[in-house]
Amino acid sequence: MIEIIDPSFLTEQIRQIIKSKNWYSLTESGRFLWQRSVELMAEMISSEISPVSPEIIKEIIESSFGPESLSKAGDECFVDCLLRIDPATILWSEGDLEWQKTKATKAGLLDRLGLIPQLIAKEKTAALKDIVLSLAGQMGEQVCVVVIDDKEKNLTHAMSLQDQFAEHGILIKTFQLKLSDVGANPAACLAFIKAIQEKNIRIVVDMDGVLVDTDSVLSQAVPPKLAKVLTF
Ligand SMILES: [Mg+2]
Repeated sequence: MIEIIDPSFLTEQIRQIIKSKNWYSLTESGRFLWQRSVELMAEMISSEISPVSPEIIKEIIESSFGPESLSKAGDECFVDCLLRIDPATILWSEGDLEWQKTKATKAGLLDRLGLIPQLIAKEKTAALKDIVLSLAGQMGEQVCVVVIDDKEKNLTHAMSLQDQFAEHGILIKTFQLKLSDVGANPAACLAFIKAIQEKNIRIVVDMDGVLVDTDSVLSQAVPPKLAKVLTF
């Protein structure tokens, strides 16, 4: 009997494995490891579906990131809207440095004139205080720093520093972005910033789930490509 593999079934199986995030590999201290995670994903797909090498998975995932992976506000890339408000917007991202650089480069973020990447391997909250203080006004003028992230804990940390920032003339505001929620998507975030009365607005923005729609790439773009490779 010939086994016929249904590609749409395969795609769904792969999608479930990817979405489970069981392939995420973290060090004891919680640092995300990209290469090891890819190897784990290869092991899971190999044992549950059919043999595949980590190299192929890595190549397919990395090549799935491109300019179309950037989140949009209407027709425009969210990052470009933010750069118009603060031409020296800070990209505040955490995770495996090689993996972050790959995503940021392929999506075209590192080509954006003015965007300042602060890619941090672990616990980016520990770096926030210095990042925000570096935005203090030179001549003592008030500055309003807007921190945008999809993770509540990062924003809670930002707000916990507000008294220390106030001493330096910095007012801190936060926005929890949710790409698929019309009340909290990039357009909603821009409306939030527009309503701010303060003049000197500076922006600190997260990458995954904010400027880059990482989950969509992994759960939508990658599974059919991997399924195609597995059926050959
Ligand atoms: Mg994020």
